[in-house]
Amino acid sequence: MNAVTHAVFGVAALSGASLWLGAEPPVYAYPAAVVAAWAPDLDNPRSKLGNGLSRLESPVLNAVTRPVSWALRLVSFVLFRTVGHRTLTHSLPGLGLFALVAYALLGGYPDLFVALVAGYASHLLADGLNVRGVPLLWPVGGTFRFLPGGVRSGGAVEVCVALAGLALTGCFLYLLHPAVRGFLGGPLQPL
Ligand SMILES: [Zn+2]
Repeated sequence: MNAVTHAVFGVAALSGASLWLGAEPPVYAYPAAVVAAWAPDLDNPRSKLGNGLSRLESPVLNAVTRPVSWALRLVSFVLFRTVGHRTLTHSLPGLGLFALVAYALLGGYPDLFVALVAGYASHLLADGLNVRGVPLLWPVGGTFRFLPGGVRSGGAVEVCVALAGLALTGCFLYLLHPAVRGFLGGPLQPL
């Protein structure tokens, strides 16, 4: 799945989890969920985070964020050369490890913790819809595919999946945030 699809799934996961928990997330939780939704692909040096966000930033921002960029590329290189793409970071043990680190660093900020874990988990779900599937039980077990045949990355079906995710996200945000309901004129009134 491409970065845009993962971003949509990350926002959908955060808004869905927040609805389930009955808590309205702050605005800054959404970009955190998007970054976490890209995090598992750090094991691919050509991914959004794996290439140090260099395709995202302007030259000025790129210079300012260069240390972060180098750190991302280094982690990406090490993961790619040790465990390879779609292994540890795309598994439930990887999700558990990520949640542990997130809790250790941000346990005092439950909004951010939920955003990061929901975003990360959404990546496993999205890639599980893909043709290649995900090795949920890595290092043991095979790959899991949540759709028969799976969705081919970059194809028209992926666009449809992303649009379906976007529609679901819209529903979640509408239900979750009174400000969104107010902006859209509130619930539909009977004539
Ligand atoms: Zn992936």
